Amino acid sequence: MTYSHTAKKIVIAVDGFSSCGKSTFAKLVAARLGYIFIDTGAMYRAVTLYALENGAISNGILNEEALIGMLDDIDISFRFNPERGASDIYVNGVWVEGKIRTIEVSNLVSSVSAVAEVRKRLVALQQRMGRDKGVVMDGRDIGTVVFPNAELKIFMTADPEVRAERRYRELQAKGEQVSMEEIVENIRQRDHLDQTRAISPLRKADDAIVLDNGGMTLEEEMAWFDEIFAQRIV
Ligand code: C5P
Repeated sequence: MTYSHTAKKIVIAVDGFSSCGKSTFAKLVAARLGYIFIDTGAMYRAVTLYALENGAISNGILNEEALIGMLDDIDISFRFNPERGASDIYVNGVWVEGKIRTIEVSNLVSSVSAVAEVRKRLVALQQRMGRDKGVVMDGRDIGTVVFPNAELKIFMTADPEVRAERRYRELQAKGEQVSMEEIVENIRQRDHLDQTRAISPLRKADDAIVLDNGGMTLEEEMAWFDEIFAQRIV
């Protein structure tokens, strides 16, 4: 399906559990509409990587005060990478896209994203990035906190086994040696931490539409989106 690019631009919020394929879905939707795709998980991951590389996390323990003291030194930006069809993330002008999806960062990111000061800054940046609309933003709190007035909110979910299997294949393809058990444990932990943190916990916005993509192909997901978009927006 093609859409008229003269149509009024909206904000599309895509939230949900870890490793549901949110970014893949959001990226395809953005390409379909000629919108900008923003992966907010990458921003929390980039802050985590910075904390790791600059001593605010050592031996797996986060020093919150040290991290908060560093936040003024972290400048996050995105630049479009035509090869990926999405924007790569940079910290202080340095490309970090290749370093933020390791199991080490995945194991620590939910502690970093629970820090109020981190969320305050990243949410403000996300709101600026979406100010002119025409964005598909994926994360955990986009429909509830970042853009509570988003015109279309989608909440993605799938069985934990299906998600772990996907993550496993992704990391294998990148040559990272991780066991299935480690991935299942990471997904379980992150789901738990993301849903139970005090600030902006992961939850479905009341007006979000649920997409359980467990048994679906990408083509089916896009057909589902086309129908929703036609019913609700066009
Ligand atoms: O989407 P992704 O799995 O890359 O996100 C990594 C982590 O960043 C999540 O587990 C969550 O702790 C945090 N996150 C968040 N709010 C968002 C996006 C991600 O807290 N909007």
